[in-house]
Amino acid sequence: MATAAPESHLRENPYAIARQQLANVAETFGLDDRLVSVLSECKKSVEVSIPTTLDDGRVRAFTGYRVTHNIARGPSKGGIRYHPAVTLDEIKALAMWMTWKCSLMGLPFGGAKGGVVCDPRSLSRSELQRMTRRFTSEIINEIGPEKDIPAPDVGTDSSTMAWMFDTYSMNKGYSVLGVVTGKPLTIGGSLGRDAAPARGALFTLEAALGKQGRTLDGLAVVVQGFGKVGSQFASIAAERGAKIVGISDSSGGAHDANGIDVAAALAHKRDGGSLADFGGGERITNDELLALPCDALVPAALEQVVNEDNADAVRASVVVEAANGPLTPAADDILEERGVLILPDVLANAGGVVVSYFEWVQGLQEYFWKEDEVNAQLNEIVTRAFDETWATRSDRSTSMRLAAYGVAVQRVAEATVTRGLYP
Ligand code: NAD
Repeated sequence: MATAAPESHLRENPYAIARQQLANVAETFGLDDRLVSVLSECKKSVEVSIPTTLDDGRVRAFTGYRVTHNIARGPSKGGIRYHPAVTLDEIKALAMWMTWKCSLMGLPFGGAKGGVVCDPRSLSRSELQRMTRRFTSEIINEIGPEKDIPAPDVGTDSSTMAWMFDTYSMNKGYSVLGVVTGKPLTIGGSLGRDAAPARGALFTLEAALGKQGRTLDGLAVVVQGFGKVGSQFASIAAERGAKIVGISDSSGGAHDANGIDVAAALAHKRDGGSLADFGGGERITNDELLALPCDALVPAALEQVVNEDNADAVRASVVVEAANGPLTPAADDILEERGVLILPDVLANAGGVVVSYFEWVQGLQEYFWKEDEVNAQLNEIVTRAFDETWATRSDRSTSMRLAAYGVAVQRVAEATVTRGLYP
């Protein structure tokens, strides 16, 4: 069965951007060229075909990828994305960013990412399950609790992880809790994992506001993307006193300068609605959303949504990159120039992988923590990483992005040098 190529959200090659970011870090922090040549490449990229029987009896072969960028600091870790515009270079970029994210958080992991070129919204649950199980079988020699540990990302969720966990475990003959994270609570998930990326982003924002003598109270916030990360961010931020003045999903968004009823928007989505037909506010497009007057803009959807065409229109004084790579380098420059504080993805959305690490540890020990404990440890790790990044930014008079990447890349470089180059 042939499928038409989907329109991509990517304006630039994200892997080229990720490598350029590494080159910038190398220049600012004086990294050895030989190390840069190691870290610019992904250790392993696997492309698989995933033949899947559809509900009507037809067979469709999906394309899947699993990429490991680096394992100098431990097994590789990274989500699985189901999206029609997934490309190998996008997955490579996301894998590289995972290496830096794990390193910045001080976790004993390297970076990986996976993806399947598909539109999960057009597949039934049973089709998704069959595809996920076949994908897991195709990459079964690549993953494992000591090797490479997937998690949810765009278009995947705890059910996807349950099917991956079960497929892997069936093949081993026993339950292997540590093979994936983001599992449902009933089969070894961690309390607090669902909200962790959003909570981590909030801790980062609160730490940044603290440096400016501000708090979340009354802060006008715009959130783009109302999936696992964006919807949780909006609801927790609202609970803690922020005013959510704009929200959106891929269908469009809503604006209310007096604050949107986030709980009502969540209920509307749960009932199968989209934000374009959510009545709680003025209806707006995603372009209009990015230009709304607000204190903080939180892109929590896909890459490159803020670019040279619309960066000038952004009116927030803080941008929290809850999504991975939501700003192009040109947008980055435009906003930095205007003095906008950008909290970069490797710092702002690392809460997910931090609690994934807790889930992996709990699974290996078969001993599970209380939610308060998870959230407190998450806060400690994210705030420490924020402080290190803030201090490096001041020492080097550079951006938060370059500072965060600098701290992270240097740690990976040190591990690489300490281990030495095999053979
Ligand atoms: P998701 O699939 O649950 O939600 C994605 C949301 O983005 C949906 O509401 C979708 O409608 C919306 N969207 C898609 N295209 C859009 C567009 N062009 N404009 C506006 N909205 C659009 O995915 P998620 O897990 O919430 O991930 C969102 C981002 O956060 C991604 O960049 C992902 O890599 C990153 N992230 C996710 C996790 C995690 O654990 N899930 C952790 C860290 C970072």
